[in-house]
Amino acid sequence: MDPNWPKKPAFQDLRRLLRGRLVKDRSLKKYTTYRVGGPADLYFEPLDRDDLAALMRYVHEREIPFFVIGKGANLLVSDKGFRGVVVNLQKGLKELNIRDLAVTAGSGAVLWDFLYEMQRNSLGGLEKLIGIPGTIGGAIYMNAGAFGSEISDCLVSVDVMKHNGEVVTLNKEQIPFGYRKGFTEPDKITLSITLRMKASDSAVLRSTMDEIWRRRKSTQPLSSPSAGSVFKRPPGKYAGVLIEQAGLKGTRVGGAVVSTKHANFILNKNHATAQNIYDLIKMIRDRVHRRFGVTLELENQLVGWDNVE
Ligand SMILES: Cc1cc2nc3c(=O)[nH]c(=O)nc-3n(C[C@H](O)[C@H](O)[C@H](O)COP(=O)(O)OP(=O)(O)OC[C@H]3O[C@@H](n4cnc5c(N)ncnc54)[C@H](O)[C@@H]3O)c2cc1C
Repeated sequence: MDPNWPKKPAFQDLRRLLRGRLVKDRSLKKYTTYRVGGPADLYFEPLDRDDLAALMRYVHEREIPFFVIGKGANLLVSDKGFRGVVVNLQKGLKELNIRDLAVTAGSGAVLWDFLYEMQRNSLGGLEKLIGIPGTIGGAIYMNAGAFGSEISDCLVSVDVMKHNGEVVTLNKEQIPFGYRKGFTEPDKITLSITLRMKASDSAVLRSTMDEIWRRRKSTQPLSSPSAGSVFKRPPGKYAGVLIEQAGLKGTRVGGAVVSTKHANFILNKNHATAQNIYDLIKMIRDRVHRRFGVTLELENQLVGWDNVE
């Protein structure tokens, strides 16, 4: 990539080409739930699919890196930020269509709002995902799940846009979903998903959702910024239990602290930097590996870091 990116003409070119909001040097802090992260060279909110396609063609032809951000609920963005274009689909791609049990949702829709809409329409199957922060696009990328349910459970197909702006539909069977492994093809953006929901009683759905939300609040530290579980569950074990047994609850690096309520959460307690959080992650991995011989795999995703795994 051109080291002088973004040159002024490129910004002006894009201003002319695109209809949605385009901002230079946008801090990503307020777009991540950790509330850390440096600026994106460019930040773009497309108005619709065509606007997104125009950007995709432009960055594809010039080999400019881009990154789609959802609610940033699983991201650790570096203090240096992201060199390229960060795209936010929450304004332009949040449509919802319900036809009996078939539901199509735009990838920028917020999962929480979507699930309450399903409940109001007596459509079940994904109610146990209530309380997972993020968008539909982020949930499909991560195959987000909780309490034995995953977003892929009700999935029929995904509409995706390739880098050249072309739109294709992939059936669920074409995507190798797994535990926190969703649709992660790096050259494709999720535009919308189609689901087949289950006819359900709205009041029963509501009481399940209320109960799940109560359980989340009692077991998770929700009053400080975090990005949920930092590490994936190692086979047959719980990352939080290993971290707790390694004596790491309450351990701190700068403003980043291992939660005393749920040891697999790192909290931004006091103006933490992304580097503080990253250093704490490394410390936890080293300590757990030395103590139990288990290598913890990151569930949080690193964005804008050089030379890290
Ligand atoms: C308090 C808390 C509790 C949590 N609990 C859970 C839980 O119980 N279960 C769980 O699974 N997760 C949990 N998480 C993690 C997080 O909520 C999920 O990973 C969620 O799916 C992230 O969605 P997002 O929209 O914020 O995605 P982001 O974090 O913004 O992005 C995640 C990835 O998805 C990609 N992406 C986003 N949209 C698109 C798109 N349209 N096309 C292509 N790629 C896209 C991004 O590029 C990135 O690679 C929790 C997080 C928090 C803060």
